[in-house]
Amino acid sequence: MKRKIVLTAALLLAAASGLRSGTIDAPYTIGTWHGFRLSAVTYTFDDNTPDHFQTVLPMFNEFGFPVTLFAVTDWVTDWSALRAASAQGHEVASHSVTHPNFGNIGKAQQIAEIQNSKTVIETQIPDRKCVTHAYPYCVTGNDSAMRANYIAGRICSGSNESSNPANMMWLSSIVTGDQGSVRTTANFTSRMKGAVKGKQWVVWLTHCVDGSGWSPTSPSEIRGSLEYLHTRQDTFWVATFGNVARYILERKAVNVHETASGDTTITVQVTDTLDNAVFDHPVTLRRPLPEGWPFAVASQAGVPVESKVIDVDGGKSIQFDAVPDAGDVVISRRESAAVGVRANPGQPMPRSCQNYPNPFNPATTIEFSLPRSGNAELTLMDATGRTVARLADGFHEAGTHRVSLDASGLPGGVYFYRLNAGSITETKKLVLVK
Ligand SMILES: [Zn+2]
Repeated sequence: MKRKIVLTAALLLAAASGLRSGTIDAPYTIGTWHGFRLSAVTYTFDDNTPDHFQTVLPMFNEFGFPVTLFAVTDWVTDWSALRAASAQGHEVASHSVTHPNFGNIGKAQQIAEIQNSKTVIETQIPDRKCVTHAYPYCVTGNDSAMRANYIAGRICSGSNESSNPANMMWLSSIVTGDQGSVRTTANFTSRMKGAVKGKQWVVWLTHCVDGSGWSPTSPSEIRGSLEYLHTRQDTFWVATFGNVARYILERKAVNVHETASGDTTITVQVTDTLDNAVFDHPVTLRRPLPEGWPFAVASQAGVPVESKVIDVDGGKSIQFDAVPDAGDVVISRRESAAVGVRANPGQPMPRSCQNYPNPFNPATTIEFSLPRSGNAELTLMDATGRTVARLADGFHEAGTHRVSLDASGLPGGVYFYRLNAGSITETKKLVLVK
């Protein structure tokens, strides 16, 4: 008996320390969070009040930040609004069928509430899996039904969550509004600032933003927190509850193996044993460039992926995205082309912000900043990597530049924009919804 207890404790320790099950070959490293950012932030909204559609979604769309809407399926009156939100990149997830307190109902009823909400959501929104569940009143329920149906569950302990959570079914969130401790922009930003050092995940649990429901949070205070995040997108990854959970589980499971290395290309396999129908989010990897390579770009299954060349520890590395099991990644050498100014190590680097809004129709804004004057080239490519527009080219003064893109003449779908400036090449994804 004594031995069994010791083993159980060892297993718990292994789970809590987030031990990896996949293998990442040297010299590759994986970001704790997407884009090697230092913290993840998720805004969740519960109980589908009308102001989520009238106020919350337009505000988040303006910044290009996705949210998670935890819907009580029996309370939904307008599925088309939720379908539209899902198509824009927001997550529609489960908050049970009837919003019972799981402490007051039996096992069979708990299982029905956990399973049936998922079935209803996936029937109403068939092109996206429903992968997460938030417990009504933050009271947990039947664990095996949770694990059979979801990759993550949300409680509300009021603390930041670890990047290696001890229990994916009991992820912490922080209640906002007049019933919680977070009411002002300053309250929001100080908790997020505190998450950076420990590379933590901040999950906000918000109800209404007007007087229509429990614990209202002022929309202008939320907007202030979004403005804070908009100017710190290299530090904070704002993503849905489901996508952060996907990233955590993929980070633990992914295998990265280099299968070929030549003078101009390197081939890498990025795989895992997780269900590809659910785990389709890119992880971010880094690899030092071979001696003498001035630049590089990356593609997966022949399509360009988000990538940039950065200075790490005095040398150059390529940082790129890859979806596990979505085909070989090829890193291709590039010469320093027509871009003039080279940033010295330790100097601020040219960078582009994620376009906003994103997804968009038909107009969006791309912002990039140059620490010093020089040549900059911004191109728009379609999903096959073909250049469809040159958005900026030639000499640019130091500072922040904004480019408006009107895509009314282009078909809907996935596009990429690439910034070539100084010593960096950066590629980002944008989605045109038509
Ligand atoms: Zn609720």
